[in-house]
Amino acid sequence: MNKPEVTPIDRPVLVPPGGHKKVLLHSCCAPCSGEVMEAMLASGIDYTIYFYNPNIHPLKEYELRKNENIAFAEKHGVPFIDADYDVDNWFERAKGMEYEPERGIRCTMCFDMRFERTALYAYEHGFPVITSSLGISRWKNMNQINDCGIRAAAKYPGIVYWDYNWRKGGGSARMIEISKREHFYQQEYCGCAYSLRDSNAHRRSQGREPIKIGVKYYGDEDS
Ligand code: SF4
Repeated sequence: MNKPEVTPIDRPVLVPPGGHKKVLLHSCCAPCSGEVMEAMLASGIDYTIYFYNPNIHPLKEYELRKNENIAFAEKHGVPFIDADYDVDNWFERAKGMEYEPERGIRCTMCFDMRFERTALYAYEHGFPVITSSLGISRWKNMNQINDCGIRAAAKYPGIVYWDYNWRKGGGSARMIEISKREHFYQQEYCGCAYSLRDSNAHRRSQGREPIKIGVKYYGDEDS
């Protein structure tokens, strides 16, 4: 197992709810989870990554995000659970919400779906605490994410959602630093087919080229 490469900074010792040391971390991608992972490693928390993101479209983008997260987990010796890519289920649940804006009800559905599966896995595999990298992005509504996480955890006895604010104490800046250090892939839309469509429409309105999947990396000139 490789020795974890953790950014050498003074960090507070994090204590998950109930003083538990075992956590299931729902991860959406390497850039968002990099700082969360290093913060938990620095606090000696025993965690496993749970990658369940059937929202990500197309498959090429999904594979890029997932494989990069796997590589970073391996580098740190962190177990990685590669859950289903049940896209049909995701599209079914998104029906009627295709034109909802980001941070709206489609996103609530999307977080609910991902956290419900995470909480179920935690319940079945002895993880008392779940948390997520989703809230570290400044594009996301943290209250919306926390509500979904708490709701999912409440379905299973003994499971708690850890609503720690991973942005604070310099977390947001370190997320970018780590992404540049690791030269992570820089995704240019949230993830689903509808966010890709809407991001491209916005770019078109500004006379910009549509998103090209797999070409932009943190640390490159304009990132
Ligand atoms: S915009 Fe993002 S959070 Fe919202 S539904 Fe699409 S992938 Fe999920």
